[in-house]
Amino acid sequence: MKFVDEYRDPELCLRLADEIRRIVTEPRTIMEVCGGQTHGLLCHGIDEQLEGAVRLIHGPGCPVCVTPTEEIDVAIELALRPGVTLASFGDMLRVPGSRESLLQARARGGEVRLVYSPLDAVTLARTAPDREVVFFAVGFETTSPATALAVQQAHDLGLENFSLLVAHVRVLPAMEAIMQADDCGVEGFLAAGHVCTVDGFNAYHGFVERHRVPVVVTGFEPADLLVGIRECVRQIEAGLPAVTNCYERCVRSDGNEHARQIVADTFEVCDQAWRGLGVVSEGGLRLRDRWAAFDARRRFSRRDVLPLLPNRCRSGEVLTGRLRPTECECFGVECTPEVPLGAPMVSSEGACAAYFRYGRTAEGKIR
Ligand code: SF4
Repeated sequence: MKFVDEYRDPELCLRLADEIRRIVTEPRTIMEVCGGQTHGLLCHGIDEQLEGAVRLIHGPGCPVCVTPTEEIDVAIELALRPGVTLASFGDMLRVPGSRESLLQARARGGEVRLVYSPLDAVTLARTAPDREVVFFAVGFETTSPATALAVQQAHDLGLENFSLLVAHVRVLPAMEAIMQADDCGVEGFLAAGHVCTVDGFNAYHGFVERHRVPVVVTGFEPADLLVGIRECVRQIEAGLPAVTNCYERCVRSDGNEHARQIVADTFEVCDQAWRGLGVVSEGGLRLRDRWAAFDARRRFSRRDVLPLLPNRCRSGEVLTGRLRPTECECFGVECTPEVPLGAPMVSSEGACAAYFRYGRTAEGKIR
């Protein structure tokens, strides 16, 4: 298959792994920001191929995982209100809030609907005019354009029963927060290819100047990942960090102008709470005032949210690369994809789910 097979060529991948091993003079620590890349690295055994040469740590690039518990509690509270339908992506339904998940709220009478796109939620609102439809809008720069489009479509259709619970996040401020941690050992980043497809990579130049670490825009197939890692270790070894695009077949420096424009028309940047990182300065998006009628937070007055119950999930450490999923004492014992204690075990992009799915153990070997 064109654009897939050539990036999965085993001989090419082995050559690239050998080259990386030859380049490094000491073990290097690289963070892949995106959860899709985490799954690619583990699925193809790249972490094991590079063991001893490159330590791959996993960043906060899973949109479901970084949505804080408090936001899920608000979504549940809305879903349980009479007359309200809460629409969300499938992964989000199983993520535990402080007391239950959206799926559990549905089991006790909440109206929760799984949708595949924000535009599905608009259709729900159009076909059920007697209900208030709230779309739980989570995700990075890759999903915010579709959410923006949904608001504008709802406006054009004259819908008054559609709104958004916005929890969109922005990658670059989270990378800044990671670099500011005292115990941060990240020497280079693989930037998320699909976020850069939308947003471009011009904004990373200032980041590289500030922190003196390479940022390499990287794709998702094994050869893409290895080429990205090779470029990253080259720059680390040379002491010449830069922004480099190793995903040229998808990413341009200025991204997708149309997508960026519709997001800018609809949202403004705000501080945002992230699971694991706390409140990240400029780490999120909120609706602009002109779209206030579509803002569920303004439309529905908040009721008191119940206090958090203690949870042994260490997702905050996992999401900031300070803990490997297998180092969590609950991994594979109390916490599995069937009975998850935290979001990283639920989501298709979660690091804990990747370690479980691809059979990693505490010793790092495939079980
Ligand atoms: S293994 Fe489960 S409990 Fe541990 S950090 Fe991951 S999601 Fe949380």
